[in-house]
Amino acid sequence: MTTPSTEAERLLLQNRAWAQLHALREPDFFNRLAQSQAPRFLWIGCSDSRVPAETITGAAPGEIFVHRNIANVVVHTDLNLLSVLVYAIEVLKVQHVIVCGHQGCGGVRAAMTDNDFGVLNMWLRNIKDIYAEHFEEIEALPGSTVREDRLVELNAQAQLMNLAKTAVIQRAWDRGEGPSLHAWVYHIGDGMLKEVQTMRPGTKLPSPWQLSFGPMSVRTESVIPEGQDTTKLDQRPR
Ligand SMILES: [Zn+2]
Repeated sequence: MTTPSTEAERLLLQNRAWAQLHALREPDFFNRLAQSQAPRFLWIGCSDSRVPAETITGAAPGEIFVHRNIANVVVHTDLNLLSVLVYAIEVLKVQHVIVCGHQGCGGVRAAMTDNDFGVLNMWLRNIKDIYAEHFEEIEALPGSTVREDRLVELNAQAQLMNLAKTAVIQRAWDRGEGPSLHAWVYHIGDGMLKEVQTMRPGTKLPSPWQLSFGPMSVRTESVIPEGQDTTKLDQRPR
């Protein structure tokens, strides 16, 4: 019988095997990673254990900066997500932000019920609002799985819009920089990622979401004080 400690030990053993394999294949592998990270992608995904960003995209360590939460939600008051976003955009200079939902999402399914989930209610409220907004369209679909899948898509699109509404994204676009924003859905049944929506850098949002950055602009969403040299924070090799 497997005890909890041997379960965790299995992961440590697998880690040793993994580290040795990579050191054999590429002797400089860990040295190179220890020097810096220069990921091109920020991934905002669901915490679901079946949707690990690097595994399903075949990406290597160092390629994807990752933030995950229940049902891949972008909340404009979430200090955790905003910190990750600001660091990814302003310091790492990622060129793509991917919001990835997935079929069979427990968070989306829970949000479609009238069950009381305690403290989770506050988080699920973000998805319930999207469900309520598209209630007639979703409820007209046949079968609970199809309805859930549609809300998964709509949720990914809504979170992409929430990203575009942030000052940190719009400020980057105003500087003529990236990133592109992508809403994707992962299909649990066949392991395939499907593109739902893409937003190119510089896309103008309808009023009142489009911000203007004049001299009176108040900078609140930034880790970098005005005038600071960002190259000191930038970990990219130069
Ligand atoms: Zn999920």
